[in-house]
Amino acid sequence: TDNQSGWNLENSYAGLPDLLFTKQNPVPVRAPRLMKLNESLAASLGLHAEVLRGSDGVDVFAGNQLPEGAEPLAQAYAGHQFSYFNRLGDGRAVLLGEQITPGGERFDIQLKGSGRTSYSRGGDGRAALGPMLREYIISEAMHGLGIPTTRSLAVVATGEEIVRESLLTGAILTRVAASHIRVGTFQFAAQWGTPEDVRALADYTIERHYPEMEDGDNRYVSFLKEVIKRQAALIAKWQLVGFIHGVMNTDNMAISGESIDYGPCAFMDSYDPATVFSSIDREGRYAYGNQPYIGSWNLARLAEALLPLFDEDEEGAIELAQDALSDFSEHFHLHWQSGMRAKLGISGEEQEDEALIESLLLLMQNSKADYTNTFRALTLGKPEATVLHGMPEFDEWHDKWQARLGRQEESKEQSQLLMRRSNPAVIPRNHRVEEALEAAEQGNLCVMDSLLAVLENPYAYSEEQEAYALLPEESPRPYRTFCGT
Ligand code: AMP
Ligand code: MG
Ligand code: MG
Repeated sequence: TDNQSGWNLENSYAGLPDLLFTKQNPVPVRAPRLMKLNESLAASLGLHAEVLRGSDGVDVFAGNQLPEGAEPLAQAYAGHQFSYFNRLGDGRAVLLGEQITPGGERFDIQLKGSGRTSYSRGGDGRAALGPMLREYIISEAMHGLGIPTTRSLAVVATGEEIVRESLLTGAILTRVAASHIRVGTFQFAAQWGTPEDVRALADYTIERHYPEMEDGDNRYVSFLKEVIKRQAALIAKWQLVGFIHGVMNTDNMAISGESIDYGPCAFMDSYDPATVFSSIDREGRYAYGNQPYIGSWNLARLAEALLPLFDEDEEGAIELAQDALSDFSEHFHLHWQSGMRAKLGISGEEQEDEALIESLLLLMQNSKADYTNTFRALTLGKPEATVLHGMPEFDEWHDKWQARLGRQEESKEQSQLLMRRSNPAVIPRNHRVEEALEAAEQGNLCVMDSLLAVLENPYAYSEEQEAYALLPEESPRPYRTFCGT
């Protein structure tokens, strides 16, 4: 093609040891149709939306045509899935290449649902329209919330049906990521490669994601510490907005510090640390309240993969790893606490702040208060709009909170501004997401477009957002999410 689209691809990943990938073209599809294009993301990547909408552009998103400079490959990785170690890899995705933006940034361009690869095992390599549009909505919502995340550039319907419990419309998502290097990528290199393979991967990852890192006594220990910091910050952000990833397997944890893999994720409604949406998470391993612990568990798996690079005997290496890992909870708590203070408009620090935060959460849990809407009501200065209103314990808490705000120098207006920046007025509510997906599957994308428009700026507190803050009518069954379709 003459590349009117603006593709500017490099393929640095292909310079890594062979065991980490397999060259693999996407498998063409019958009749691609563009369902969704992210124009602002396209522009920031240096791509031209009006060209991408044309048939050549759509053929690229479908895998029917390769953009200039592409050298597609499927990546190898391993992963602990619900704590069991498995050999995995891109079974239904290919990396087209890395787009270099006009500003010189590098982003993976990946097609997800692009057909079978050498890593597919039993699967068909395909994805269904509903889940791909769902990933589009949630990842863009996360971006709007200011949380590091992979993004969604486009969704095409393939014109082919895929076989699940029923026949579903096939689709391909074009995913944009800082990279797709996972904890599981390191596990793969450690398990099936040599220490030199792990070192090559680590050096590549440091250069790509941690170029500012100071080497310290051992470069790879420093690297581990930096990854731990980013993950602690990321998971704190999830907790603060009530995001439940749902499948925090080590293959779904990106070394870049971005949230990745939007399968069974969902946002918590009533506050309860035990909240689980995923239909397959029967023991609550990936429950809301367990996410920080699972984060540190996954990072311990990364540390194990890096041990051979620590220039020590085994005992010394393990000690270095344990020391690095022990910092996770401190980093997490610092981020979480400062985030929670901001949600309550608090500046500075007082000893009792933690108790103030915890007692509000406990009240919310006991009353099944909606997490987002409770903070929204407090932000709007309308405590009477929460279900907690009228409870003597809540009145008492409210007085203490107001007294706390009274002790800081910042004005009422300033703390209200801080709360507006820290408490989303809208999140992708499960019933709204379902409604958008149902309409889209009937060919009507307007519902999804309106939802995306309000999720783009969740801190706006605009009038259009009010309808999206409403809770669903009482539902007979709890909300359930699924992965793998
Ligand atoms: P995920 O649940 O998305 O994290 O995927 C776990 C693993 O299963 C990855 O290696 C995927 O590539 C693979 N996988 C998921 N769905 C399919 C499919 N339809 N065909 C082939 N492989 C798949
Ligand atoms: Mg995955
Ligand atoms: Mg997935």
